[in-house]
Amino acid sequence: MEEIAVSQNSMLRGVSVSSGIAHGVAYVLSSVDRTMVPRRSLKAADVDAEIARFESALTAAEKALLALREEVAHRIGASESEIFTAQALVVRDRALYSQVVAVVQQRQVNVEAALVDVIDKYIRALDQVPDAYLRERAADVRDVGRRILGALAKDDGQSSLDIPEGSILVADELLPSTTARLEFSQVRALVTDRGGKFSHTSILARSLRIPALTGIHDALSKIKTGDFLIVDGMSGILFVNPGDLVRSEYERLADELSAYRAVLQKSIDLPSVTLDGTAVPLFANASKVSDTEAAYLYRADGIGLYRTEFAFSIRNAFPTEEEQYQLLKRAAERLHPRKIVLRLLDVGGDKQLSYLPLPASRNPSLSLRGIRLLLKRPEVLKTQLRAFLRVSADHPVSVLLPVVGGLEEVREARAVLAQVMAELTAEGTAFNATIPVGAMIEIPSAAVLTSELAKELDFFSLGTNDLVQYLLAADREDESAGDYYQPLHPAVLCVIRLVAEAARAANRPLTICGEMAGDPAYTELLLGLGLREFSVAPGEMLEVKNAIRAATLAEAEALAAAALELGSTSEIEALLDGRKRAKSKG
Ligand code: PEP
Ligand code: MG
Repeated sequence: MEEIAVSQNSMLRGVSVSSGIAHGVAYVLSSVDRTMVPRRSLKAADVDAEIARFESALTAAEKALLALREEVAHRIGASESEIFTAQALVVRDRALYSQVVAVVQQRQVNVEAALVDVIDKYIRALDQVPDAYLRERAADVRDVGRRILGALAKDDGQSSLDIPEGSILVADELLPSTTARLEFSQVRALVTDRGGKFSHTSILARSLRIPALTGIHDALSKIKTGDFLIVDGMSGILFVNPGDLVRSEYERLADELSAYRAVLQKSIDLPSVTLDGTAVPLFANASKVSDTEAAYLYRADGIGLYRTEFAFSIRNAFPTEEEQYQLLKRAAERLHPRKIVLRLLDVGGDKQLSYLPLPASRNPSLSLRGIRLLLKRPEVLKTQLRAFLRVSADHPVSVLLPVVGGLEEVREARAVLAQVMAELTAEGTAFNATIPVGAMIEIPSAAVLTSELAKELDFFSLGTNDLVQYLLAADREDESAGDYYQPLHPAVLCVIRLVAEAARAANRPLTICGEMAGDPAYTELLLGLGLREFSVAPGEMLEVKNAIRAATLAEAEALAAAALELGSTSEIEALLDGRKRAKSKG
């Protein structure tokens, strides 16, 4: 696109949180901000009536949220609707209630003003939290505040937004209750000023496969309803009222993309097998029940990695054993008889839960995380294992231990597992006594010890996202270390090769489930390094399958051998680029 001349003010840069290309007419949603809230003083005699007004608004807001949850569960999916259960809990939060009541009583102001002050305080506190996921929960708190304000104004906010077909929605920040009211068939793309990769809107955009950009600063002042927009969700660029040259260029690109998708779609029923006939099982990564639906539709061989963190992150208390069991059972039922690898909770480090306070750490990624944390909180571990084991009674599920450094954690986790199994047996609860237990290979020590670990484990999952960060000492979340975070670093390839070889020698299945697995540019190299099972995001499955189907093991091994001879990332990148050019010609 560099060759296209565009005026700077019509081209805005942001961050793509859902890929694809779309064009359409801007529909700008203005958000409720605190200046719109009436602020008035109360007479002492009116304080009780004001609190009663607050209580009935809370009841109305809760009712509206629960109705919305049902509607979203029906229209989009049960797991997307869970956010409204969490929001209903915030509405009923005792601390929120007492703080608002205290402000009304002490400052004698109307409940709207008190509520905005308290909500602002919550949001400021959340903004300070280092964890990106929790910071994004500020959007939920703001949303709850807005909903209670709506109820106070006798507006329950349920009416559907009247958005013209073909619109591109532009907002400061899209709140879950707004997105839930959208007719998605009318909306072609989303553009926001604030929001991040983990915000619910980004998650929703990805599951609906519409392009979305965030980080378009001052979007509301730069874009007006009616402007013609082009959203480039591949490179994170937004064009506002672009000229003919840009329009025709993007029309061509959109045509190419849809032709490409149509071709990809044709491969949905084709087997995942190399040109020379080796079957390469292709699994999906999932973090919520609706991902298992996508995995099913894309004919995944199962779920190679079910990240259980999501269900914990959208709540403000630990999900009960029964809640965990019900969620996982639904996922397992959807894919039965295909296997699901359930990973134990990987929080700690910089992925904190509000209800699981941890001591501050100078180096969170090197501190309590994954299985280390679970072993310190055996009640959390036991509850999760009970839920997993109950699902195992009827479905082929396995247990995956996150952030394993060596045999000690494996033995301790297995001891807890044995204890939980004994308890279930005593209660007469059914489970699979030979449930496979595996480990993430994502700490370099575990990679080095793969053969030892294989003596006490049934399978492995190669987590390259963390392996790269720990091997190269480059924080995966820290942009300033970004240049050093190199999946194609010679040391990374060398370790992948060692792990694949050790797992093969020990006859233990090994699946690669880090982001590297989902990039078709790496597929041939990974096959050559010895990987024979891939687990990728559902939306990446078809491209990876095509890359598998275009590879032969002999050529893949020759490519890997050539890469392993090279001493720097740039040389390996150049080798892959050359290979790509040669393949596209041939
Ligand atoms: C990984 O580390 O590669 C992985 C798959 O786990 P996560 O991204 O959840 O840490
Ligand atoms: Mg990991």
